[in-house]
Amino acid sequence: MAASMADMFWRCAVPEAAKRTVEIRHIGGGKGKGLFATRSIRKGETIFQERPLVSSQFQWNALYRYRACDHCLRSLETAEENAKRLSGNAHVNLPYPELCTIQNGLHQQCPDCQVSYCSAECLKAARDQYHQVLCLRSSRDNPAHPLNKLEEAWRNMHYPPETASSIMLMARMVATVKQAKDNLGTGGSNSSPSFAARQPTKRRRSSTSSWVTSSKVSWISCDVCSRRLCTRSE
Ligand SMILES: [Zn+2]
Ligand SMILES: [Zn+2]
Repeated sequence: MAASMADMFWRCAVPEAAKRTVEIRHIGGGKGKGLFATRSIRKGETIFQERPLVSSQFQWNALYRYRACDHCLRSLETAEENAKRLSGNAHVNLPYPELCTIQNGLHQQCPDCQVSYCSAECLKAARDQYHQVLCLRSSRDNPAHPLNKLEEAWRNMHYPPETASSIMLMARMVATVKQAKDNLGTGGSNSSPSFAARQPTKRRRSSTSSWVTSSKVSWISCDVCSRRLCTRSE
């Protein structure tokens, strides 16, 4: 089902800023929806930024040891480390290292599989959204693991330079759905849930003033997008 007009900016990094700049209107003549400016926009100005539903590093890129955050893909290696790796020269020294914005002290790893992230926020976001399903734990370097076999098969079909999407995008989409369903099934009791269960809600019964508490109805809200969903148990 298509999102309502009010929800069209839910993936924006700063939804309120986007809403102050543009709006979505229905266009006649069968054209559907269009994006319209609601104020003057300067040349070069960023109108809005959206967070990706999922993202993944290219498989060959990772195999050649380019270190990137497994969630947001920010580089984990400094400019000098990058130059050393690409040149194959461990003695390369770049001037002005203080200008490099990479902060190794903020980097985190999944305690179970040692996948690296740029920050505690990215580690939590990945675990909350899909990583609990995809965490390889001790099988990270096991070529017989189904996910590792899938990655190898994908690499063998897509030699560098990779320009197509990564198969791990699909895996993360599936894992996002599965992890959300798992958390719904456990009532959000997972140790790192992306969906936090709310208390059963009270519902007004027709025109009477009495309230009833339905144990079969509860609200959940997604920690990622803040959408509220109603769930019923039969
Ligand atoms: Zn990150
Ligand atoms: Zn892990």
